[in-house]
Amino acid sequence: MQQIDATQLGGVPIHGGVADFETRLANAFAQIEVEALPLWRQGKVADYIPELGEIDPNQFGMCITTIDGGMHTFGESAKPFSIQSISKLFTLELLVELLGESVWEHIGRSPTNSAFNSLGWLEQEKGKPYNPFVNAGALAVTDRIMNSTAMALHSILQHIRQLAGDQSIQINDRVGDSERATCWRNLSIAYLMKSFGTVTGPVETLLDVYCDQCAIELTCEQLARAGLLFVRGGIDHFGNQVLTPTSTDRINALLATAGMYDGAGEFAFRVGLPAKSGVGGGILAISPGKMAIAAWGPALDATGQSIVGLKALEILASHLELSVFRHQCGV
Ligand code: GLU
Repeated sequence: MQQIDATQLGGVPIHGGVADFETRLANAFAQIEVEALPLWRQGKVADYIPELGEIDPNQFGMCITTIDGGMHTFGESAKPFSIQSISKLFTLELLVELLGESVWEHIGRSPTNSAFNSLGWLEQEKGKPYNPFVNAGALAVTDRIMNSTAMALHSILQHIRQLAGDQSIQINDRVGDSERATCWRNLSIAYLMKSFGTVTGPVETLLDVYCDQCAIELTCEQLARAGLLFVRGGIDHFGNQVLTPTSTDRINALLATAGMYDGAGEFAFRVGLPAKSGVGGGILAISPGKMAIAAWGPALDATGQSIVGLKALEILASHLELSVFRHQCGV
């Protein structure tokens, strides 16, 4: 395992080392309580997947894992939730592990101002997805994992368990079945891509795997631990170099530009970190070289991001001076 100097936790701006970091964290948590938590009333749970529509919107948890393995929690950080599109980060990472940089021959790297599940543009792009995080891109990634491994769903689940260091992680079958019964748009996207040859395997089987990968449940604590890989230049929780630093930097760049879909610009403006959201209400944000932050609150804003999670991350990033766009000249 890498040895990391804990006094550098906050990097350049945390002038006072660990004690100052903990004071800033306590101040951030206090502000989150007052300013972020009440916002759940302005959001709405994702009811287009009927099972998710049943979830109590007034819940919130957060976990921060620092580069040295330290963990700081807030609220319901140990409650499992449906990771939904956050799974797309882990499938992309798995595919880059399997195929290396050739992944990018079939998947673009452009941000989009369309919704995550829109498909109008896909016809013009001849079935090549804009990026790996819109549904079209994630379906192409899962299709390629299915071409590369015999038991794709098992590999995806095992991979997430390994990154989180927890074999108890499971798929919520009710959520998977609920999405499968209503996934008409995703089926349309996959069939259109199949007509262009950018999806190669059987569409119905692809959707089976995709719906189940989205229905994997993690707690904020497990998710933040799994996120450490992207903090540490490809070194996982156990100290194994799983991905090259260059590939990790590139995935972080795509998270920053496309991880929050058409909300990516707003997120960069308010928080300034690479991040991936899911309609289950989770957000995983990466502060490269410093920390991974998992936030979860099921009530969503109009772009499908956790309304409390977004505000909480904004407050935390401000107190800890985490924005990757922050000036580094020491004033
Ligand atoms: N399973 C969801 C879908 O495909 C994931 C969307 C999301 O979390 O952003 O619609």
